[in-house]
Amino acid sequence: MRDLFLSHGHLDHALGLPFLLSHRAMQSRSAVTRIYCPEPVADRIERFIAAGLEIDACTGNFELRGLEPGERVGLGRDFDVEAFATEHPVPSLGYHLWRRRTRLATEYEGLEETEIARLRRSGVEVTAASRELLVSYCGDTGPAVFRRDTRLFGATLLMVEATYIDDGLRDRGREFGHMHLEDLAAVADRFDNRAIVLHHLSRRHRLEELRRAVDERLPEIAERVHVWGLDGAPARGASR
Ligand SMILES: [Zn+2]
Repeated sequence: MRDLFLSHGHLDHALGLPFLLSHRAMQSRSAVTRIYCPEPVADRIERFIAAGLEIDACTGNFELRGLEPGERVGLGRDFDVEAFATEHPVPSLGYHLWRRRTRLATEYEGLEETEIARLRRSGVEVTAASRELLVSYCGDTGPAVFRRDTRLFGATLLMVEATYIDDGLRDRGREFGHMHLEDLAAVADRFDNRAIVLHHLSRRHRLEELRRAVDERLPEIAERVHVWGLDGAPARGASR
């Protein structure tokens, strides 16, 4: 992977960075890995990676850039990534992956191809740019993210955390900036996504528990929900 987007500096997310770079340097000495992270922690992340590579006696090449919410990074001709604000006790970002497209402008739809070609030759701009939101990845976040960026509900694929399931853990989610299943239930009717991947489940729970809880408590979206780490497709006709 040439480009790596880090949501925040908590070690369950960031600890593997020096190892990834060291591994990539072994595969290709000239490969430069581009790492993006929240701007307020960029310095510390850079020192952390550099220390890891030094201990490993490795010369992994990397460029690190801190991002603020709203900043964009181009990835080749067709894609770009946009950072967005999430809700976590440390500086954190989520990332949207956009696909750029050029389409025939609506006013020229239905015209014969020869006519469109004639217009193009005469210098008329017959195309219009559009963008498709392919993936929204929320990193670690509490439910405020749904108010901060409502475009999440329209991403083709939404990756959102579901850390807690039990009723007794509602306050823990609020305190640590994590999502409780009830937070997802509260906005379940707004998910327009083709698929929703739930990740970051607390070790207090098992993946199968989350799957069951989704089938029982979020029946309206259960068929589109996938539990990260659990094999197989979403249960169909699951007991409700
Ligand atoms: Zn975290």
